[in-house]
Amino acid sequence: MSKGTIGVTTENIFPVIKKFLYSDHEIFLRELVSNAVDATQKIKTLQSFGEFKGELGNLRVTVTIDKEAGTLTVSDRGIGMTAEDVDKYINQIAFSGAEEFLEKYKDTANSIIGHFGLGFYSAFMVSRKVEINSLSWKEGAEPVRWSCDGSPEYTMEKGDRSERGTDIILHIDEESKEFLEQARIDTLLKKYCRFLPVPVVSGFEQEWKDGKMTDTDRPKVINNTEPQWTKKPSELTDEDYRNFYRELYPGQDDPLFWIHLNVDYPFTLTGILFFPKIKNNIEVTKNRIQLYCNQVFVTDSVEGVVPEFMMLMQGVIDSPDIPLNVSRSYLQSDTAVKKISGYITKKVSQRLEEIFKKDRADYEAKWDDIKLFIEYGMLTDQKFADSAMKFVLLKDSEGKYFTPEEYKTLVEAAQTDKDGDTIYLYATDPTAQYSYIKTATDRGYSVLVMDGQLDSHFVGLLESKLEKTRFVRVDSDVIDNLIRRENKRDVDLTPLQRNILTTAFRSQVPEVEKADFLVSFEALGSSDSPIVITQNEYMRRMKDMAAMQPGMSFYADLPDSYNLVVNTEHPLVRKVRDAADEAIGAQVQPLADTVEKSNAEITALREANKDKQPDAETQQKISDLEKTVADARASEEKVISEYASGQALIKQLIDLALLGNGLLRGQALSDFISRSVSLL
Ligand code: ADP
Repeated sequence: MSKGTIGVTTENIFPVIKKFLYSDHEIFLRELVSNAVDATQKIKTLQSFGEFKGELGNLRVTVTIDKEAGTLTVSDRGIGMTAEDVDKYINQIAFSGAEEFLEKYKDTANSIIGHFGLGFYSAFMVSRKVEINSLSWKEGAEPVRWSCDGSPEYTMEKGDRSERGTDIILHIDEESKEFLEQARIDTLLKKYCRFLPVPVVSGFEQEWKDGKMTDTDRPKVINNTEPQWTKKPSELTDEDYRNFYRELYPGQDDPLFWIHLNVDYPFTLTGILFFPKIKNNIEVTKNRIQLYCNQVFVTDSVEGVVPEFMMLMQGVIDSPDIPLNVSRSYLQSDTAVKKISGYITKKVSQRLEEIFKKDRADYEAKWDDIKLFIEYGMLTDQKFADSAMKFVLLKDSEGKYFTPEEYKTLVEAAQTDKDGDTIYLYATDPTAQYSYIKTATDRGYSVLVMDGQLDSHFVGLLESKLEKTRFVRVDSDVIDNLIRRENKRDVDLTPLQRNILTTAFRSQVPEVEKADFLVSFEALGSSDSPIVITQNEYMRRMKDMAAMQPGMSFYADLPDSYNLVVNTEHPLVRKVRDAADEAIGAQVQPLADTVEKSNAEITALREANKDKQPDAETQQKISDLEKTVADARASEEKVISEYASGQALIKQLIDLALLGNGLLRGQALSDFISRSVSLL
């Protein structure tokens, strides 16, 4: 037996390992099983090179709990270690055997996991003592037993192992007793080892016997040694991909699409990414992309490695080139990682374009499910936004899909206004905005449906990408104002008629909660509606944004302001006009004259005193005139609204327009119904 001090520079590295090195103690198992798998891969490599000529035997890795002895043992039938090996690889901590091995067998040994740094020593995070019992593959090798209690001193003696391979025996410490529970170990192995390339065995298969689950004598294999991402895409069927998805995320709907990643230069990366059919947010946060390093699970927090918008995707990425034991902030600034992230983005957009081109019908059928993902990607990733212009789809009110380019070709001729801007009409709620959509489509215009969660932002993005293009919601103005083709027809009203109609309509708008109405006039043609209610595009966008952003509640709290656009060419409006003119024209005219005359005098007085302070007499005159105006206005208002309140037709026209917009509610709605009945 020999004694010695482990070759570390600091006096005692173990407390450091225990406390700081790994935030997560459980990863010791990943490290030890990975070492065992490495040793197993190495013996296979040696055999294929003809250097090892003996029997490989049963090359599985076994994890065994001995509760009584308080030990957890990881055993393999790999290359084993001689006393010199242990001295070199274990005692001299800085010496990474994996590196040396890789150097020697560079081209074939890329399946060797050697990326976890202080792998073996992580065993001390959970053990008061660690033993190695090993027999090397080398001819005539002696078994060796190494033991260390966590201080830098170790002992080494002749061991008793008779079969090639290594046992790592952990004497689990008081605080870590959980690792002596089979259920806990099963969970960890399932988490870290489920796709390791060598079979990993722990515990026994169970079966139902005498009313409870009991161990059989069949050892339980934890892992699938050949996960789909390690195979060539050409070897896999669609069903293989779906099965793999089910294996990864049991109980979820089948994925919509998948992307098989496979690159070996300038970095090595394989994997399969899936577009899930997202049903709820819980699945998004729970079933995330998993990061592997040579089939060893590393983490499922892939922030920084994949672009943010891909956090909605699922699947596996396997790359030995992602630095693993580093902080997130470092990861994000690492150039290799940036390249990887850029590569994944490119691959995802290439694949989407390919699916789109190959089977457009299928792509369209799935569009509503992937739309959120693609729009999110375009809004957060400039490069993706550029390439996605080829396969992002716009849906019109008839359920037809177009790429932005196709859509432009479709509408350009009909929907370009007199200033050369192409106007894209859209609806956010096809049911509520039905009458506007119909008015537009009757004119031969196309209306897009933009009813997704991100569409209000997405509209802005498209506007910035498409030149000379403006999006306007189909109800934001009357159709002829949305797409101005030529100069508008004049509204045919005398000033008196305009005056009377403005007050007549405004005074009869019922109380609508949180809404203001402004009366205006347009000559819209006799077949259009008599009254159209519109909502200003700019104000509405401001309010939509405000609703999503804190600190903008000022806008959100403003009432909605609507335009009540009266169509002066509609026969019913003409009827209202003529009847009002006839009934109260003679009464209103003198009042209007007074207003006009007094206002003119006020203006003249102000003009004359423009550069000086008006004297007291002038000031008195002005305020008298102002009072005259106010009184005349009040009388006007009274005459007109009293008249209008007796006109069922005016009320009926307004209420019908409100009704068409879902704005007629409560008392106003029941008044409308009883009025309609009495009109019948
Ligand atoms: P790394 O795996 O990063 O090289 P470790 O500390 O985990 O670092 O292991 C150090 C070395 O010890 C390995 O490179 C390997 O040569 C040797 N080793 C560890 N475990 C085993 C094992 N089960 N069988 C054979 N050699 C092993």
